[in-house]
Amino acid sequence: MKSRIEVVQGDITRMTTDVIVNAANSSLMGGGGVDGAIHRAAGPALMEACMQVRQQQGTCPTGHAVITVAGNLPAKAVVHTVGPVWRDGDAHEAQLLSDAYRNSLQLVCDNGYKSVAFPAISTGIYGYPKPAAAEIAVNTVSDYLTRHALPEQVYFVCYDEENTRLYQRLLAQLSPEQ
Ligand code: ADP
Repeated sequence: MKSRIEVVQGDITRMTTDVIVNAANSSLMGGGGVDGAIHRAAGPALMEACMQVRQQQGTCPTGHAVITVAGNLPAKAVVHTVGPVWRDGDAHEAQLLSDAYRNSLQLVCDNGYKSVAFPAISTGIYGYPKPAAAEIAVNTVSDYLTRHALPEQVYFVCYDEENTRLYQRLLAQLSPEQ
């Protein structure tokens, strides 16, 4: 049976999944890293959609997620979630990172989408240690999938080799049906 979770190394903006997830900041107004890459590839329609969300519901708190159109991206929709900035590990970072993954999956599921691609949220500019972040990502997603039919397929899109190796190792430890 095909695994519902896979790791790929590359650029998330090229993913043809129904949804790609953006590691956004609370302002939803774009930024560096994967956020900048997604906005560049999506074009102005994505920023317009983010500005509308801002007007309707204000900023997006850490651990929360919102969904928008995907502009020129191959994906159908973008989920913007805000991961925690790493401080010392005592500022609820693990819970907030898990919330970011779970709330993103909930939006994918609620909107009936079948596939989603995640970047390694918080492991760039936000400084979350990569091994700990990968463990939270894999555990949160696999736990969610045991309890929900959607999404059918989840991809972890790793930009760097360190994350690719970490995710591959963790996924190899999951039971075959996950
Ligand atoms: P954060 O502020 O949440 O740390 P970053 O964008 O700085 O977000 O980094 C999150 C992760 O996304 C990092 O591991 C970084 O290497 C990765 N990344 C950067 N650009 C891309 C891209 N185009 N596709 C996939 N992952 C990317």
